[in-house]
Amino acid sequence: MSEAEAIPAADPGALVRRHAAEIRAAMERVLASGHYVLGPDVAAFEEEFARFVGVGVGACVGVANGTDALELALRAAGVRSGDRVATVANTVTATVAAIGAVGAEPMFVEIDDATMTMDPGALEAVLRGGKVRAVVPVHLYGQMADMTRIGAVAAAHGAVVIEDCAQAHGAAWNGVAAGAWGAAAAFSFYPTKNLGALGDGGAVATRDVALGERVRRLRQYGWQTRYVAEEGGRNSRLDEMQAAILRVKLAYLAAENAQRAAHAAAYRRGLAGLPLRLPIVAAGSRPVWHQFAVRTGKRDALRAELAAGRIGTAVLYPVPVHQQPAYRCDVALPLTERACSEVLCLPVHPTLTAAEVERVIAAVRAFFA
Ligand SMILES: *Cc1c(COP(=O)(O)O)cnc(C)c1O
Repeated sequence: MSEAEAIPAADPGALVRRHAAEIRAAMERVLASGHYVLGPDVAAFEEEFARFVGVGVGACVGVANGTDALELALRAAGVRSGDRVATVANTVTATVAAIGAVGAEPMFVEIDDATMTMDPGALEAVLRGGKVRAVVPVHLYGQMADMTRIGAVAAAHGAVVIEDCAQAHGAAWNGVAAGAWGAAAAFSFYPTKNLGALGDGGAVATRDVALGERVRRLRQYGWQTRYVAEEGGRNSRLDEMQAAILRVKLAYLAAENAQRAAHAAAYRRGLAGLPLRLPIVAAGSRPVWHQFAVRTGKRDALRAELAAGRIGTAVLYPVPVHQQPAYRCDVALPLTERACSEVLCLPVHPTLTAAEVERVIAAVRAFFA
């Protein structure tokens, strides 16, 4: 028997090949334009992405990456050194690095065991401790946190909400898109995200025009007008080449999110009845399946068996941030810790074929047989 084709956990290259002709044309246009940083493609992408998220035009600011987007959104929202910022520990360390970059202290909030996103009740307990200036819910795996309750709890304690939307381009909660709930939201366009560049990129989305203007200053040395700084800023610009590529890919994002959803539905049917926890989607939540995360106590054995069948998987995230050397802190988060020990992300990217999804399903079923 010939060896089966490998199924990668993610495949940004396949998505680029799908749109190669259009991406090449966009790159050629930028090459010829002579304009390479903060030019017409960045401006156009900002408008198009603002429309996609549903915040007003002019309320999206392109930056260098998702971590910077979070940091600059926090700074623009008034978070300062010594403030506390509440977030979750089952996230990429970038979320916490951004909080650290403004000099704030991360306060880790327990997750809801069903959705694996921030538990509003646990958030309330943390906010009662005081001094929490901002809340950063993470819309993990493409599913939004409970923004209705998180928004209400944060408002009651005078904390601003900055959404981490790096995994949730196009997701919605009660019909309102990820990025349109908080005071501001951070997006990443890292190549494997639902909307990915051919390098790094990020954006801040906000309905607050003044906050957006402040991010616009902060991304370029704090300049209000050219060469004149209004406040201390830095360099976190999105370049024209990435913006032009993102404009091509944005046009296909809704269709590609639908392909992810079709794969997720196939997994749900095919994996039903196994001793495996399938993703739970909260009422009112429309996920975009950045990952299809299942849970099992036999995670590592299942992962090894799938790897033997040339099926790639990912563990997001193997170690919760509060237990990592750089961020260790003395807080007990048993639900978060258990989720990190059980979670396994199956391939769900849009260029998978239905036959490949069936092969993954068969391999998982064989493992549990
Ligand atoms: C990818 C990601 C980030 C960081 O984005 P970069 O563009 O890599 O800086 C932040 N938060 C979450 C949840 C992410 O998945």
